[in-house]
Parts: sequence; structure tokens; C-alpha cells
Amino acid sequence: MKIIIHGGFFSESHTNSETKIAKQNALKEIARKGFEFLQNHSALETVVYTVSLLEDNELFNAGIGSQIQSDGKIRMSASLMDGTTQKMSGVINIEDVKNPIQVAEKLLDFEDKVLGGEGATNFARQNGFEAFSTEIPQRREEYLAKKESTGTGTVGCVALDAERKLAVATSTGGKGFEIPGRISDSATVAGNYANQDCAVSCTGVGEDIVSGAVAAKIVTRLTDGFSIDKAFEKTFDELKPFDGFAGAIAIDKSGNVFHQDSHPMMVFASFDGKEFEIFD
Ligand code: ASP
Repeated sequence: MKIIIHGGFFSESHTNSETKIAKQNALKEIARKGFEFLQNHSALETVVYTVSLLEDNELFNAGIGSQIQSDGKIRMSASLMDGTTQKMSGVINIEDVKNPIQVAEKLLDFEDKVLGGEGATNFARQNGFEAFSTEIPQRREEYLAKKESTGTGTVGCVALDAERKLAVATSTGGKGFEIPGRISDSATVAGNYANQDCAVSCTGVGEDIVSGAVAAKIVTRLTDGFSIDKAFEKTFDELKPFDGFAGAIAIDKSGNVFHQDSHPMMVFASFDGKEFEIFD
């Protein structure tokens, strides 16, 4: 059993600021809790549980603490994918929901699996997700002061369970100050993808992740015989011509855990019950 999580790209990554340390400690604690949960749950249940914990922590740009768009509203996106069934579900630009990933999970039971905007928010209300404001004062202050993004950040989790099944979930408050209607990569197969061989969650500039089809390419390369490190290497090389800004975490069916970022600012944590690793 393995788990790896990410908390997006941190603008504080090269500092020793209190925020950076707080984020690292939070990731460590959440990776540990996720791993404990994985002992008695499937990979799919675990990625939803773990991403919910990340969404609930206001240090991260997903759920509570999400960034504000150019019109002053928060719109969040989240998706999950079951590597075994290859079913993916997600919400795009949903509003006023505490845990977008749980709405995405609910959609797995429906024929229509990815909903956007008002339709996603209405679906959440109809299915018992109460209205909840995910805005925190700090994001409003940043929005009012700068009227621009303070850096990207998204959360994600990949898990391999006792039955060697893989799953992935990703959730974001977006890149901040975007045009309303902008589609994040986080609820697309570029940002979140899995099959029986590998599962991948991305963070970074959504436009670059979509241009590079990052998660889908890494997974497909594994299936076509690449090792996990070679699949990452080739996919990240393909970002270079347009200086694509992306990071990804992954686990393959043999339990190899891998991560890479195009610019060294992403923070990850992984835990396999014995060893805890944190990277930045
Ligand atoms: N990928 C996210 C987006 O562009 C942002 C991030 O990962 O920080 O919406």
C-alpha cells in the first residue's frame, strides 16, 4: 500500500517561512492520516478522504482557502478517477461547496459524470451538499490588494490499495484572478488520470498541463511499456519547448512512487507506513 499527496506549487518554497513549515507539517499529517485510512479502505475511498482533508485545510488552494477569480467569486474544480474501472467524474467551476471532491465522487454513480458551473452547484444542492462559503479573509485581502494571483496551488492524492488497485483525486481553487468561465486542468484527463497501470495528479499552470496532456501521457506511456521515470522524463521534456509549468505525482501498479516538477517549487509528501518523504 502506498500514498502520495501534493499541495501544489508554493511561492514560499525557497524560503523558511512559517507558512512553508506549516504547509509541510500539514502535508505530513494528512499523508499519515490518508495512509491509516488506506489500511481498511479502497484506493478510491482513500483519495476522496485524503483530498477532503486537504480541501478542509485553509493553507491550500482547494476547498476552504481557494483563490478568488477576477470577478470576486470563488469557483472550484475537482475530479477523481478509478484506475480499475477507468471511470472519471468531476466538477468544474462549482461554487459554495465545502468539499468539491465529494461532489465529484457522488457523480461516479451517475451517467453524466462531469458537470460544470451552475449545473454542478445545483447538482450539489440537490444531493445534500449544503451551501458553504470557502472564502477566507486572507484571500480577500490578497484579491483586494493585488488583484492578481499570489501563485498557484492545487491538491492531489494518488493511492495504491491492498488489492493493488490505483486511484487518483485532484482539487483546485484555480490559478487565481482568472476570467470567469476559465476551465482548469484539474477536472480533465490532462490533470488527473489513472488506469490499472498508473495514476497521476498534476499541479501548475492549467493551460500548460492541458497543452502537454501531462497525466494522460504519463499513464499511457506506462501502459506502452515505459518505466515510470522514463514516462515522466519524456512527458516533462515535451513541456520544454513552451516552458510549460507543471508538476505531477504518481504511483504505478508495482508500487513505484514518483514525482517531478518543471520548476522546483512543488511540495509533495508520500508515506508507505515505514518511510515518510517530503520534498520541495
Ligand atoms: N492547475 C491549477 C489550474 O490551473 C492550478 C494549480 O495547480 O495551482 O487551475
